[in-house]
Amino acid sequence: MNAPHPDALERPHRLDALPFDNSFARLPEAFYTRLAPWGLPEPRAVLFSDAAAALIGLHPDELASPAFVEAMAGNTPLPGGDTLAAVYSGHQFGAWAGQLGDGRAHLLGEIRTPHGPWELQLKGAGRTPYSRMGDGRAVLRSSIREFLCSEAMAALGIPTTRALSLVASDLPVPRETMETAAVVTRMAPSFVRFGSFEHWTANKRPGELQQLADYVIDRFYPAARDAANPAVAMLTEVSRRTATLMAQWQAVGFMHGVMNTDNMSILGLTLDYGPFAFMDGFDADHICNHTDRGGRYRYSAQPHIAHWNLHALGHALMPLIGDTDALEAAIDTAFVETYNREFLARLGAKLGLTDTRDGDEELIGQLYGLLHAHHTDYTLFFRALGELPAVAGTPAQDAPVRDLVADRTACDAWLAQWRARLALDARPDAERRAAMHAVNPKYVLRNWVAETAIRAAQAGDFAPLQRIHTCLQRPFDEQPENAEFAAPPPDWAQSLSVSCSS
Ligand code: AMP
Ligand code: MG
Repeated sequence: MNAPHPDALERPHRLDALPFDNSFARLPEAFYTRLAPWGLPEPRAVLFSDAAAALIGLHPDELASPAFVEAMAGNTPLPGGDTLAAVYSGHQFGAWAGQLGDGRAHLLGEIRTPHGPWELQLKGAGRTPYSRMGDGRAVLRSSIREFLCSEAMAALGIPTTRALSLVASDLPVPRETMETAAVVTRMAPSFVRFGSFEHWTANKRPGELQQLADYVIDRFYPAARDAANPAVAMLTEVSRRTATLMAQWQAVGFMHGVMNTDNMSILGLTLDYGPFAFMDGFDADHICNHTDRGGRYRYSAQPHIAHWNLHALGHALMPLIGDTDALEAAIDTAFVETYNREFLARLGAKLGLTDTRDGDEELIGQLYGLLHAHHTDYTLFFRALGELPAVAGTPAQDAPVRDLVADRTACDAWLAQWRARLALDARPDAERRAAMHAVNPKYVLRNWVAETAIRAAQAGDFAPLQRIHTCLQRPFDEQPENAEFAAPPPDWAQSLSVSCSS
């Protein structure tokens, strides 16, 4: 969904009068369990997203109110809400995991807006019937990561669930060490996952499968309703959206870390931020989740895994599709075509090209080879490339890029090819520079930057967190006061590792 600019949105709603219209709660009760969250003792406001609040028309004054903190902690219900935890299943690390579900998420309800629906969901507000061995909690560390990254991805223009608020408490939560509890309020038009469909097929419940497909098609893929087979049409569109999302992840150097089918959004949104990372020094096979020993979810495998996950979704939809050929066309053709086109277009734009031509793929492939061989910082490289003149520069002019690549000769050779390609476009340098800076972010949520916010917050200082959040709202702008956050990992952060534990 293309969100309008936050400043253009009306914000008339008071917290106690949000226009709820809880469509998911109108599905049969097999889809969820109605329940109240446990809440959070003595919650403190840590951070909110004004941009996310604007999307639901929430009046800006409400964000600073004590009632907002209590509601976002799950301590007081919102009038008009209908709180529930949804059931789903899924494949985890390639193996069928059976029933999962919202083990620590409570859907508060769905807000109607002129730009479409937004569900509000608490993450970390207590156990549900789907918690299995989990405690229903989320720790401050992982909640900061989810909040910052959701809002950073949105600012980068990458489809994602949003984060409205982050509240924290002194409640101890045991993980590898003792940590403290927090709740992030997430927003999405829908939190339905691939695994929501797999659930009904695995349980041999074709009626519910049909109901869920109808629900998703009617609300989010209305054009599919008129197709010969609406489920095929929906799957085709989900394949396209997922392929586009993968092209965006690869282009920006984002690694999700846990691409299980229960973490795949039916709307093609980035969903469930856990051990994610942005690429620092480029390594095509980087594994950001240290529990992923086999590297199933390494950077280079993400598009392939998304495709695999679409097949799991397609298999789940088979009772509605019936025909293997239709299934393969819906997934394989749509995914591969869209991914290749979107990836080439995005990389071309990152290189400052105005269109796609024969040979661009080789130019891009050689660049990835160069970055991989020299472990060049991915974000810095593209940003610096925008500064270079189109006509062969002096070594001093080329220094911003040459200084990032250990092998200057190899770097110069690639730059010569890039310049030969730029010559075909004949675009003025200033125009190209502006276009490149508009697609090559200066600021991404590097792990060390997230860790900086986390360590300060754990010590009771939320100022760095707020500053980093503000910085990441304008990822493409030069922000001299925040230049430190554009830097590669400092020495202390070289060995940071991120696990699934959250
Ligand atoms: P994830 O890999 O974090 O997306 O989670 C996979 C499944 O485990 C989902 O069903 C989650 O709701 C559940 N889960 C993860 N952490 C917890 C927790 N601390 N308490 C309850 N359920 C959890
Ligand atoms: Mg999940």
